[in-house]
Amino acid sequence: MFLDLDRFKDVNDSMGHFMGDVLLKDAARRISGCVRDCDSIARLGGDEFTIILGELEQIDSVDRVARNILQRLAEPFRLGNETAYISGSIGIALYPDDAMDIDALLKNADQAMYAAKNQGRDRYHYFTALMQQKAQLRMRLANDLHGALRRRQFLLYYQPIIEFASGRITKAEALLRWQHPSMGMVSPAEFIPIAEDTGMIVEIGDWVFATAAHQVKQWRQTYDPDFQISVNKSPVQFRKQTFEKNQWLKLLQELDLPGQSMVVEITEGLLLDASNVTRNQLLIFRDAGVQVALDDFGTGYSSLAYLKKFDIDYIKIDQSFVRNLVADSSDMALCEAIVVMAHKLGIEVVAEGIETQEQYELLKAMGCDYGQGYLMSKPVPVDQFAQLLATASKSTPNAL
Ligand code: C2E
Ligand code: MG
Ligand code: MG
Repeated sequence: MFLDLDRFKDVNDSMGHFMGDVLLKDAARRISGCVRDCDSIARLGGDEFTIILGELEQIDSVDRVARNILQRLAEPFRLGNETAYISGSIGIALYPDDAMDIDALLKNADQAMYAAKNQGRDRYHYFTALMQQKAQLRMRLANDLHGALRRRQFLLYYQPIIEFASGRITKAEALLRWQHPSMGMVSPAEFIPIAEDTGMIVEIGDWVFATAAHQVKQWRQTYDPDFQISVNKSPVQFRKQTFEKNQWLKLLQELDLPGQSMVVEITEGLLLDASNVTRNQLLIFRDAGVQVALDDFGTGYSSLAYLKKFDIDYIKIDQSFVRNLVADSSDMALCEAIVVMAHKLGIEVVAEGIETQEQYELLKAMGCDYGQGYLMSKPVPVDQFAQLLATASKSTPNAL
């Protein structure tokens, strides 16, 4: 068993390390009381313990031990004059079924522990083959990602964003695609988190921006001089870049493009723990005319304070609100409220994930400014997007 205490850091931070040590010792005693004399318990470091239950006769006893430990840990800890409450998350790997050697057993139990944490802590979780498959796939993707840029395996798809008032395509969102040589198209939902963890997102993001900038230059010349392309920028990219060498703005200058030709999509998480570096970068974007959109709005903290504090140009209402949009629904009320609030703050609103004509009409009627979704078009490769623009400029406005 791999056991990690939940919220131990809070105890350390609020009551001090001495009290943290007292709690650890008490926790160790409690865990010892739940196992037989022939079992082993070790503290591996920090608030992590391993427990070896040898010579198990039936697997049920593992459940019983795990439940007992969790129960004992949930009881209050007396620390001097204060009381602390914690819990534990336990991962379980079985020998010889799950692994044959110590390292692999520990690794698998550790993975199972993470599953317990992810499911809400204060619980135990067995290691499964699926977990292993996922971990292996992740490792493989991380390896393959390294060469992907050099091997030109990335491409950008573009999804039109239409202006409700005119029905015209006035913007596009650039969405990254990875053409894996053997696995086919890998979804960004799968590889972006890995690229973030490994820091590769910085390089990849620079490529996205450069490619989109060249593209917007072309579409501004051939289709609409005010056309804009938005790119997604992950918090990791903000952390790793310093504003002195803001190559993005330099590139725009080289291409003779105004800042207004690009929009940077950020998430609320970025604003929540915004450092000065982040703040400066956002200010530099603003000074250069590059607009900022708050992506997936409504799924995070939706803090009004942040909207005011940072110069946000657009809010993108998350598709989870648009998906169930029907007249007189609570999602309808939420969308309307977001639109009114944004407009009062001088912010424009983009609705994401529009799939039906009804959603389109409702959003248009409530005064939402822009719309994006499969109803208009899925994200498509450059050529197809150019065709969309060509047909759109021939047809009459409001044709949609
Ligand atoms: P996002 O920025 O919120 O992008 C919108 C996602 O919604 C896209 O998924 C798009 O294909 C999908 N979508 C658009 N309209 C509809 C609709 O009507 N119905 C449904 N069900 N889905 C719709 P995609 O392309 O798979 O991208 C997923 C996420 O990956 C993006 O979410 C974004 O967070 C991230 N991502 C994509 N490209 C990049 C990139 O270049 N850099 C970074 N950092 N993240 C990216
Ligand atoms: Mg986006
Ligand atoms: Mg979004």
